[in-house]
Amino acid sequence: MNTTTLASTTRLNPVSRTLPVLLAMEDDAEDVGRLSPDDRLTCHVHGRWIHQCVASPLHVNPITRHRWCRSCATALTVSIDELSGDVTMFCPRCGHGESAASARLIAACRASLAAARRRFGAQAA
Ligand SMILES: [Zn+2]
Ligand SMILES: [Zn+2]
Repeated sequence: MNTTTLASTTRLNPVSRTLPVLLAMEDDAEDVGRLSPDDRLTCHVHGRWIHQCVASPLHVNPITRHRWCRSCATALTVSIDELSGDVTMFCPRCGHGESAASARLIAACRASLAAARRRFGAQAA
């Protein structure tokens, strides 16, 4: 009998996927519980790379603390440097506001930025 290695053969590979393809793949993976919403590189609400729409108010969540400073009850400001690929978030009031949820969101934004750049840009490294 064949041991299926589904998990490894269907593993998501963001590189070389177009946005619509990756979006659909991530929807499916999320539906079957193989992908956490926090780890998506695409946004199913906006239909874009996560770094392209993360500045939308829809990506603020006071409960999970995605892009939310609890001390100030304020949404974090997103700063994305498309050139360096750096993504940061900070509270406009206290300058901090970090949370585990925001850290994961930042990681996803950096990954989506990198994936989008690999597609459109340079033959890099
Ligand atoms: Zn979005
Ligand atoms: Zn704050």
